Amino acid sequence: MRLNRSTKTGGGKRGPGKGGSLESGRRAPASPGEAGEAPDSMRDRRGAWRLSLLDLDAAGLEAFLAGIGEQAFRARQIREWVYRRNIIDYAAMTNIPAMLREKLSSDLPADPFASCEPVRTASDGTEKLELATRDGERIQTVIIPQDQRVTLCISTQAGCALACAFCATGAAGYRRNLTRAEILGQVVHSTARSGRRISNVVFMGMGEPLLNYRNVMSAVRELADENGLAVGTRKITVSTVGVVQGIIRMCSEELHPNLAISLHSADQRQREKLAPSARKWKLDEILEAAELYAAACGRPVTFEYTLIDGVNSSQADADRLGKLLKKRSAKVNLIPVNPVPGMKFKPPDGDSIRRFKLKIEAYGIIATLRTGRGSEIQAACGQLKPQV
Ligand code: SF4
Repeated sequence: MRLNRSTKTGGGKRGPGKGGSLESGRRAPASPGEAGEAPDSMRDRRGAWRLSLLDLDAAGLEAFLAGIGEQAFRARQIREWVYRRNIIDYAAMTNIPAMLREKLSSDLPADPFASCEPVRTASDGTEKLELATRDGERIQTVIIPQDQRVTLCISTQAGCALACAFCATGAAGYRRNLTRAEILGQVVHSTARSGRRISNVVFMGMGEPLLNYRNVMSAVRELADENGLAVGTRKITVSTVGVVQGIIRMCSEELHPNLAISLHSADQRQREKLAPSARKWKLDEILEAAELYAAACGRPVTFEYTLIDGVNSSQADADRLGKLLKKRSAKVNLIPVNPVPGMKFKPPDGDSIRRFKLKIEAYGIIATLRTGRGSEIQAACGQLKPQV
């Protein structure tokens, strides 16, 4: 099938929708968008969707304040508290008049989360936070310090409908999309927690980002805003299992973050066993969409490949991957599978990993090996799952 740049993601039905069952008993995923474009606001304790401060961009906040008779400079003041000082509590915004703070507290709640708690810290400094949304969902964020950099791995959905065979998030099922405020709130809370500027943001936590397209791209724009969080577009990575329509849609965005595609296999049938979504978004379509995106952003796409012993890590698998990606604008990131309680997969031994990497490099492909930062605290790829 030739891909069409004008292909749109589907509309806003909530819930994972219907899908065929897999050999593993997991269900095939929903159509793009069927998992639901989230509303622009969070659900309060009474169950009504409610706008919160971080849902609004600069223009939106100015418009909101104008609506209650306030001037535009107040929006700049509030945004500086949030995005420069990492404070999402009106009570602490001392240059805002008390009456306005009171009004905003009731009409435009500042913090989209009811709580933000550190869960565990690994010996390498990687820290996992668990945040509770106002309607009781629990999501996780991982802070990964490394030398001068601090990388943040954020979630885009509460749960995930895509049920990849090796992923704890997928095994826990899908709850709902996160709002723009809940996505950005993870960054603000994490920055406050770490006490350091976040240098890189990866959308690789819980959920499939491109099934929450509108809120994810709105958050990307806010992250990149020079007057706000100022994380450069090249320091932001959106990771997808291969939601083709979402990748095509990203081509026509003004900003082009890095794109990572979770491939896991160069064989269509093997891929379907590891990632049920492969039944819907076929390898050749994903590769074609990736080429379009690489051309649109002027940088190669990264293909992530989870290495699983006895499943997809043989020399023949490496050969297939090399043949598939050679001559493409692509890099490969190899990720030895991280242990998940109750799942039988284990990573290959060091020698097999090294030989796999050498084999694909022989095809002229740049390959990197991801270290399992945070795996000892269940904070690495595929391990995120609420504590309760
Ligand atoms: S690996 Fe990503 S897309 Fe697959 S189930 Fe887990 S969170 Fe969802």
